Amino acid sequence: MYGLPRRVQDLIDELSRLPGIGPKSAERLAFYLLRSDPARREKLGTSISLLREGIVACERCCNLAEATPCELCSDPSRDQETLLVVEEPLDLVAIEKSGYRGLYHVLGGAISPVEGIGPDQLFMNELFRRLEREAIAELILATNPNLEGEATAMYIARELAGCEFRISRLAHGLPMGADLEYADQVTLSRALEGRRSFSAS
Ligand SMILES: [Zn+2]
Repeated sequence: MYGLPRRVQDLIDELSRLPGIGPKSAERLAFYLLRSDPARREKLGTSISLLREGIVACERCCNLAEATPCELCSDPSRDQETLLVVEEPLDLVAIEKSGYRGLYHVLGGAISPVEGIGPDQLFMNELFRRLEREAIAELILATNPNLEGEATAMYIARELAGCEFRISRLAHGLPMGADLEYADQVTLSRALEGRRSFSAS
């Protein structure tokens, strides 16, 4: 049976393993790349193969960074008494666009019993150790407003019950089940302004 040249088929197979890319899109992308400028293909290939080079987790906020401590953690002009907890680096990027200028902590995901993700699979201990060292006045829990995000916020609030600082959660201007990453700037900055005290009860 006639098939495509091996290399083209391999690329289609690899592309179709990416999230959100079905077999048809993978074929389209592969043929697009096949016809594109060689310099462009080369650049894409290099970006992919060097993706992990020189990327570290910041020792303070656990965000992906080019150096540790990262740029955000090393900036003394940021409010050092407000710490905002997010699930993923892209959530941080979204919050940053809303105008927030405090510190961050990136958990690297959310607690999900279904997927077998517990606190130990996240940068949770890093957060608790940090809170012992740093003089924080407010901890803002900005995990996603979905089941896993709520469970994660509850877990943190429970672990920190009786702490000296204020714990707050983003206001529910955000639709339940939503992803912070996709929230618009206005919604996010309103959710941040309207944050309310949060405790595990
Ligand atoms: Zn950092």
